[in-house]
Amino acid sequence: MTIDYDREFQQCVDKVKQEGRYRVFATMERIAGRFPRAKYHAPDGSVREITIWCSNDYLGMGQHPVVLKAAHEALDACGAGAGGTRNISGTTRYHVELEASLADLHNKQAALVFSSGYVANQGALGTLARLLPDCVIFSDELNHASMIHGMKESKAEKKIFRHNDVEHLEELLKSVDPKRPKLIAFESVYSMEGDIAPIKEICDLAEKYNAMTYLDEVHGVGLYGPRGGGVAEQMGLMDRIDVIEGTFGKAYGAMGGFITGSAPVVDAVRSYASSFIFTTSLPPAVLAAARAAVEHLKVSDVERMRMRRNVELFKDLLTRADLPFLRGESHIVPLIVGEPNCCREVSDMLLRDYNIYAQPINFPTVPKGTERLRLTATAAHSIEDVRFMAGTLEHMWNSHHALRAVA
Ligand SMILES: *Cc1c(COP(=O)(O)O)cnc(C)c1O
Repeated sequence: MTIDYDREFQQCVDKVKQEGRYRVFATMERIAGRFPRAKYHAPDGSVREITIWCSNDYLGMGQHPVVLKAAHEALDACGAGAGGTRNISGTTRYHVELEASLADLHNKQAALVFSSGYVANQGALGTLARLLPDCVIFSDELNHASMIHGMKESKAEKKIFRHNDVEHLEELLKSVDPKRPKLIAFESVYSMEGDIAPIKEICDLAEKYNAMTYLDEVHGVGLYGPRGGGVAEQMGLMDRIDVIEGTFGKAYGAMGGFITGSAPVVDAVRSYASSFIFTTSLPPAVLAAARAAVEHLKVSDVERMRMRRNVELFKDLLTRADLPFLRGESHIVPLIVGEPNCCREVSDMLLRDYNIYAQPINFPTVPKGTERLRLTATAAHSIEDVRFMAGTLEHMWNSHHALRAVA
């Protein structure tokens, strides 16, 4: 008896295909200075220019001259890689300066940079909940996969509260022994819904039940608050959050993740988190780019205002066209299609007929039956881009009855 290993794995992939959620990557070639335009490399080998409508480079910082200059300088000055883990020769002045910049951003004692936002959540939540003896985690049901990964790894007991439901959260908090350590983990902007958490109410509950708060501001940093400190900064609540987590991969246009918090909390994660300790640190050019973006957005509002103008116009046009999008308060516009094959078809049509790229979002990223296009009007889109996109969607929804049936 021999085992056909390839066949085993092919069957797994076939199952994904049958469920209409096989992921097909679109190959992009971004053009510095021309975002949201990019070259699309089609499967047949042809290349053509398209407009991206699903990027997280919300403010176009990935191509901002200040950011590119900083990256070029660091690359030329220090070379490509950091050369080691943070502990063994891989802590550069770029790490130290960026962490100081982040602590300042969130008005915290300390900050710690990770390889990505995913690793930051997984490492920090996994470590904090593990170090607190007998800790209970209270987790919003729509928390990101990286937070779920960390919480699972911590082996701490987990109670899941209904999305943004503070009454349910209080019910759960009440049900736990007041003497046990508690950690509430949630996001500010929910990436796939585009809605915003009741941060103040959650902080009030945290205070009442003596719980720690852990806030994922991945879709908030750079975009909200007078200095880009996130939604908590905008609401004047940063000081009530124990740990703020973020990424350089979205509004800051680079890559990498981070946490900020009190010196003991950050030092504990630094000392115990495997995914922080046992990996090569980020290279100088990436860190320099990230820091340039963070510092630029502490003082510049131009990008935020342009994005807001585009988002408002886009939502306004979709509302007038009576299209079924989720009306959250954030910059993210999820347009519901509701069926995976149909969702892929809409995405394919946009690319084929209109040179618009919007990746379909299917299960397990979102629940079955809520498949969607997650649309982002960035600071780099023009008013004409926004009008063209809204007009195209309106035309598609009006000419395909199946789409209207969902609304
Ligand atoms: C994208 C995302 C992350 C992960 O950040 P990366 O830097 O891309 O790894 C974490 N949390 C949320 C809510 C996200 O959307």
